Amino acid sequence: MDKKVTMDKIVNLCKSRGFIFPGSEIYGGFANTWDFGPIGVEFKNNIKRAWWKRFVQEDPTTYGVDAAILMNPTVWQASGHVESFGDPKMDCKNCKTRHRADTLIEAHSKGKISAEGMTNEEMEAYIEEHDVKCPVCGKRDFTAIRKFNPMFTTSRAMTGDASDVVYLRPETCQGEYVNFLNVQRTTRAKVPFAIAQIGKSFRNEITPGNFLFRTIEFEQMELQKFCKDSDSMDIYNDYKNRALNFVEDLGLASDHLRYHDHDKLAHYAKAACDIQYLFPMGWQELNGIHHRGTWDLSRHQEFSGKNMNYLDPITNEKYLPTVIEYSIGADRLTLALLCEAYDEEELENGETRVVMHILPALAPYKVAILPLQKNLSEKAKEVYSMLSKEFMCDYDEAGSIGKRYRRQDEIGTPFCVTIDFDTLENNTVTIRNRDSMEQIRLNIDELAKYIQDSVKFN
Ligand code: ATP
Repeated sequence: MDKKVTMDKIVNLCKSRGFIFPGSEIYGGFANTWDFGPIGVEFKNNIKRAWWKRFVQEDPTTYGVDAAILMNPTVWQASGHVESFGDPKMDCKNCKTRHRADTLIEAHSKGKISAEGMTNEEMEAYIEEHDVKCPVCGKRDFTAIRKFNPMFTTSRAMTGDASDVVYLRPETCQGEYVNFLNVQRTTRAKVPFAIAQIGKSFRNEITPGNFLFRTIEFEQMELQKFCKDSDSMDIYNDYKNRALNFVEDLGLASDHLRYHDHDKLAHYAKAACDIQYLFPMGWQELNGIHHRGTWDLSRHQEFSGKNMNYLDPITNEKYLPTVIEYSIGADRLTLALLCEAYDEEELENGETRVVMHILPALAPYKVAILPLQKNLSEKAKEVYSMLSKEFMCDYDEAGSIGKRYRRQDEIGTPFCVTIDFDTLENNTVTIRNRDSMEQIRLNIDELAKYIQDSVKFN
């Protein structure tokens, strides 16, 4: 990771430029919640659109859904969340801070050991044997590890008793599993096919932090591919490739990305892998690709009493499909892309320019319209209203042209169009490229196509 990028710089830029604000800020905030501002909402929407385009729109075997956040509580019994989902947490008796045992083990081993799949006893033994200390006070004096259920609950408040409890979903994928039969029947999809969704999840995380990296409310972009078990490893490997290609195509550098295959697997899984990104705080999970066997559909079959079998129309074989899951956090990816895009350039005149080299397709504004002087605003507004029919545009007539360029560089606007007195004479404008800072002159009639061609995501 480039030394220039620190989390503080990213957080400050996001706050000052309208990408992201602390949640409920005027009340002193609400820890680990963030509000996307005018620039941030455009950026994140563009990321979500790019994901949907790549994995749903361009893939004839994938179908989208938008399932309810509040689900029948039995779903969470079937998924195992009510009973056993939970982070292994322990408290430091000395300084009274709370930690995740798996995170401490992974940090202590510098990522060489994955605690995923370890039992509480195995983790406790590891911590003792390797003298893993509290990162806050440096002592090793922990309570026993307990599972902590990170599901937020709410209530339908009909009777006020425990049967009213409703969960805020901790993952979106259950919305696909419960709709497996509906989607297959209405689309007449043949296995292998996938159901995809983008939506909010909620987790009462023990150790949230690092800005958008781990929050208590976040968006997931994920799909579940239903396949024959004999095809499942090919499909799993295919998604490993596609997931990596996608984030590279969005602009993450190859040497900031790596696969992390899991050694310890859930009892039903044949394979699991994360793609990690080199965040300013080190290598961390960006997304996961998981082989989930027939676990999910078999559990829903058991708890709902509905037959979840797929009938192969050619062989007449009936079976529960195996699931390959690919899941990536929209907020975590937003953070990775912000870190990757951030740059401080030394200019020839000795000044430093902060520029976000965001992929044009993802840029919040595609173009800013800047009249050189206020008395050119009428013509500039005409250009704005023409271009804003095609894409998000900004309009700025305040301050020197140099300062206006800098403001656009900091929010990653790929093009600035300057309206000057020649524009009134010959209908041409100057268009400046964010990355090269080069300027060319174009006729106003050519502008929309010129920009359109540069901001496509393929
Ligand atoms: P982690 O090990 O980081 O807790 P996970 O393995 O629990 O993640 P999954 O349940 O597989 O994650 O979720 C898929 C993706 O959702 C993750 O790869 C990540 O991008 C995103 N994600 C998970 N938890 C959070 C969170 N608390 N805040 C932001 N994004 C998250």
